[in-house]
Amino acid sequence: VSFGYQEVAPDEKTRRVGEVFSNVARRYDIMNDAMSGGMHRLWKDRFVRRVKPRPGEQILDMAGGTGDIAFRLADAGASVTVADINPQMLEVGMGRAQARGFDTLVWTEANAESLTFPDRFFDAYTIAFGIRNVTDIPSALREAHRVLRRGGRFFCLEFSTTLWPGFAEAYDFYSHRIVPKVGKLIAHDEDSYRYLIESIRRFPDMPTFERMIGEAGFVQTKVEPMLGGLVAIHSGWKI
Ligand code: SAM
Repeated sequence: VSFGYQEVAPDEKTRRVGEVFSNVARRYDIMNDAMSGGMHRLWKDRFVRRVKPRPGEQILDMAGGTGDIAFRLADAGASVTVADINPQMLEVGMGRAQARGFDTLVWTEANAESLTFPDRFFDAYTIAFGIRNVTDIPSALREAHRVLRRGGRFFCLEFSTTLWPGFAEAYDFYSHRIVPKVGKLIAHDEDSYRYLIESIRRFPDMPTFERMIGEAGFVQTKVEPMLGGLVAIHSGWKI
């Protein structure tokens, strides 16, 4: 499997991704604003509007990190479980939850590839900017399908490839030349941001990823590109 520009063993990738997020955890939120010019907030708002969380619903926010999606879901009254493989990210998230008065969220350490939740437990599963970091994506998608009840919904927010010509080049320049430098300046960590950019470049394109979601058992799969596909919302239903 690939870790940035390198080919590594699956366990090694999982370990290195762990390192990346342990390194950036404390600066993660400020970096998101810096790198996206605040736009990640709008993408996340739109994502949660698509999920349409309802009061009392059980939602699993996988790779939930520092809680950005979970807080939005909980605002709508959903019962949210935040799961992430990285304890440092969860710790930052729990601190933010406390500061904002969210006291009903459940925080749990878990690898998306193998979950301990029972079958058909959740009404919805969300994963935002998480799936491309997962080593074995088909396993994670199968697990998502397993823990959803019938009629449950799957939603994924992820960087993809923009199909707008001029914009694609500008983004390429920005991501390869600017992002690692900003990473160095603010988070003192150029390598982690190089990995994050390279992992975006290597992520399957929109039709391929949509097909993978279908292969995991989801139906009525859909993709909604934003900025020509720079960011995309993929979704599907379990029946
Ligand atoms: N969802 C949050 C957001 O949108 O701000 C956090 C996204 S952050 C870019 C990616 C998260 O994926 C990190 O917190 C990382 O620890 C987590 N992650 C990576 N591999 C994972 C895995 N196999 N299982 C669960 N979480 C994973």
